[in-house]
Amino acid sequence: MTPQKAVIGLEIHIQVNTVRSKMFCTCSQDYRGAPPNTNVCPVCLGLPGSLPVPNREVIRKAIMLALALGSKVLDKVVFVRKHYFYPDLPKGYQISQHRGPGMAPIAVGGSLEIEGDSGPKRIRMRRIGVEEDPARITYPSGDPTRSSYSLIDYNRSGVPLIEVVTEPDLSSPKEARVFMEKLLELVDHLGISNPDLEGAFRVDVNISIEGGERVEVKNIGSLKDIEKAISYEVVRQRAVLAAGGKIQRETRHWDPVKGVTIVSRYKELEEEYRYFPDPDLPPIAITSSIVEEIASKMPELPWHRAERYVKIYGLTRYVSRVLVSRKRLSEFFEEVVKIYGDPRRVADLLINDFLGIVNERGGNLDMVKASPQSIAKLLSLMDQGVISVKIMKMILERVVLGGEDPEEIVVRENLKVIASDEELEELAEKVIKENPKAVEDAKKNPKAINYLVGQVMKLTRGRADPQKIAAIIRRKLSIGS
Ligand code: ADP
Ligand code: ZN
Ligand code: MG
Repeated sequence: MTPQKAVIGLEIHIQVNTVRSKMFCTCSQDYRGAPPNTNVCPVCLGLPGSLPVPNREVIRKAIMLALALGSKVLDKVVFVRKHYFYPDLPKGYQISQHRGPGMAPIAVGGSLEIEGDSGPKRIRMRRIGVEEDPARITYPSGDPTRSSYSLIDYNRSGVPLIEVVTEPDLSSPKEARVFMEKLLELVDHLGISNPDLEGAFRVDVNISIEGGERVEVKNIGSLKDIEKAISYEVVRQRAVLAAGGKIQRETRHWDPVKGVTIVSRYKELEEEYRYFPDPDLPPIAITSSIVEEIASKMPELPWHRAERYVKIYGLTRYVSRVLVSRKRLSEFFEEVVKIYGDPRRVADLLINDFLGIVNERGGNLDMVKASPQSIAKLLSLMDQGVISVKIMKMILERVVLGGEDPEEIVVRENLKVIASDEELEELAEKVIKENPKAVEDAKKNPKAINYLVGQVMKLTRGRADPQKIAAIIRRKLSIGS
């Protein structure tokens, strides 16, 4: 018996952390690092008598995202109150958007094409809206069930979020991850969000086994956890069904430490939210001229950028896709190519060596201190035979993370390829004298010469061209190549 199909839909909340202020007040949206409860005002504290004023820049960004996804932008923006009682929500309701009588999100429909488990696949969008982030609750022991009190920091309260709700078109944990990666790439390129900031996105995952009730796993904050939570839930639901049980419609939470989903103590059924239009916020008209104006200022989309790399630079699809995984990386790449040329060589260095260094440390490009000029210079130093590949790899980390100038490092630490042939002749002579056994081997088997070359390389501390050394040794031993 083949297992029944998994059905997955996502509700994604992305912080708009590229604007100045919060969603409905003038406090900074950049709450990170500030002492608790200092980035607040009567509006985002939900004090009586305060009035929200919508951040139009956020609405424009949401429209931009809607256009990139081919969604239909609605002609008016309606804010609604979504009620629930929890200390992270001082007003007792969150200002959000929804569908239904008298309500309207920013946009409906649209889709995003991903590389699915069995080929290209369109994931349809249900709606795109904006809302406000709740406050942050921290538990002294890190675990709510084991803490006698909790601390609330309202600095995040009111930070703008864009909510993207998909149709249940995803079929596996892997597809959910691929979808999320592509969506985060998109918001990065559109200048809507920096997805690499801690807490920049949170996802509610809806999962069912074909025909069964769905379970919502709330508030997952990393791609790895989204994938794991779905895997866990699919296995759990299949096991319940296989044992003759039934899946309850319920809300669960993901415990990243134990790697399991747990039933929530709070019932969060849709009707209990008591959505209704917020009387403090009159609907905002979105005219076609506003939409056209936003469309005319749309930055290049990541998949168009990748296509351009394939067509104009002759890169492979894979390499192009990696380069557009972050806007900053693709811009960096283009800058280096502008200075140095040879896009394939630049792409190769960036994807293998450069990203290797960054990914080893968590992958956040904010740690990169290198300028495009310094990377171009590094490549030129190799071309001119000033440094070997080995030296390049040795100093790359200091160039990338330390922002050091490669030329300065080479001069200061005397890392130039040994220019004089005499020096190489001398070292080759020494190695030949000290390794009679290896010399015998090399005379019998030309491949065995590599050992001698290695010994000379070692003495030069990698500052020589191995081909040149091999030629010298062959001449000295009178063996052909
Ligand atoms: P809305 O919030 O617009 O009323 P729903 O609450 O019905 O929409 O759906 C919320 C999320 O649940 C969406 O992401 C949707 O794709 C997903 N979903 C709906 N039905 C299923 C299902 N049978 N299995 C898994 N996910 C589902
Ligand atoms: Zn405020
Ligand atoms: Mg819902």
